[in-house]
Amino acid sequence: LEQGTSCAGCGVKLQTETVDKPGFIPQAALAKEPAICQRCFRIKNYNEAASVAIDQDDFLKLLGGIAATNSLVVHIVDLFDFEGSLISGLQRFVGNNPVLLVVNKIDLLPKGINPNRLLNWVQKQTKAQGLRVVDIVLCSAKRNIGFERVIEAIGEHRGNRNVYVVGATNVGKSTLINRLIRDYSDLERELTTSRYPGTTLDAVHIPLDDGKEIIDTPGIVYSHRMTEIVPRDVLGALLPEKGIKPLVYQLNSGQTLFVGALARFDFIEGDRQSFTLYVSNALQIHRTKLERADELYADHKGELLAPPTKEQLEEMPEWTRHRLTVRRNSETDLFISGLGWIHVNGASGALVDIHVPKGVRVLMRDALI
Ligand code: GDP
Repeated sequence: LEQGTSCAGCGVKLQTETVDKPGFIPQAALAKEPAICQRCFRIKNYNEAASVAIDQDDFLKLLGGIAATNSLVVHIVDLFDFEGSLISGLQRFVGNNPVLLVVNKIDLLPKGINPNRLLNWVQKQTKAQGLRVVDIVLCSAKRNIGFERVIEAIGEHRGNRNVYVVGATNVGKSTLINRLIRDYSDLERELTTSRYPGTTLDAVHIPLDDGKEIIDTPGIVYSHRMTEIVPRDVLGALLPEKGIKPLVYQLNSGQTLFVGALARFDFIEGDRQSFTLYVSNALQIHRTKLERADELYADHKGELLAPPTKEQLEEMPEWTRHRLTVRRNSETDLFISGLGWIHVNGASGALVDIHVPKGVRVLMRDALI
């Protein structure tokens, strides 16, 4: 690949190394003229948007560009990684443009949860993050739940504006966009990609029936999410595809839970009580005594404690410890970005340690469920 060769479709610099970065082209496709990136290829031939990712700085430039337009910003977040996938500072960057918050993957929560309660929780958390939104819609792009409402809300709030869809990686943006394309776009007109003015970023323009457009933007990479820190092969185990079965553990202080070799939870101090894990059910949980935890990890990481495998662990950062105090009589989640959370009902309070790869965001929040 010649240095600096650009995609004939969107103008992005071509590269053959990283599939989910802008400009990827398979080696074999280079021989063809004109050379276009895989993303443009899929849009042209299959009318399908693909996930590409960019880092935070590039993304902020793109957001800054949106402020100069008159548009509706549809921000997709993943309910399973709410604090991890919310774009902090979005408000500053979109200027006066209204933001519609679409909360995806509600199918992952156990059935029978009151949707109004969920909505209240999302409202409160969003406000606490300093984000003003014109509306909040809960949906599952994959299971086609709440989708009409998404379309309705976009219709209600956009007036005659264009629509920008923004979100972090893996929140389900492509799944949602592809549903939009299938159900609402004017397929007589082709999808086009275009370079975003002033940046090297490309955005996919999706023509709608009424002549307006929906503009898909690259997914933002947040290094504070476990999903970005694990090697690619582990991602499948982390991202739950089906509803999560919560796992309840009755623990005494001095007990430890391992979530594969991805995280470790130590119950340091407090009365015997239950802790409920909301993590992908593809992950193995191991219970042990706190005093044996270091040894167990040293002897069995990557084997009994997996995923990740031994080799994969070598590509990951070392663990760091987060010490948290759960207040008495509080319904609290111990949230681990990209992995899930541990619910504590905290009747008697608790002192806990959470060990995760360095960089992964850990925080306490009001219980979601
Ligand atoms: P993008 O990176 O934001 O474009 O995300 P994708 O659309 O590629 O989806 C990322 C992952 O989340 C994939 O494994 C999808 O199958 C999954 N996914 C997308 N939407 C949903 C949903 O509504 N529910 C569940 N359970 N998974 C979803």
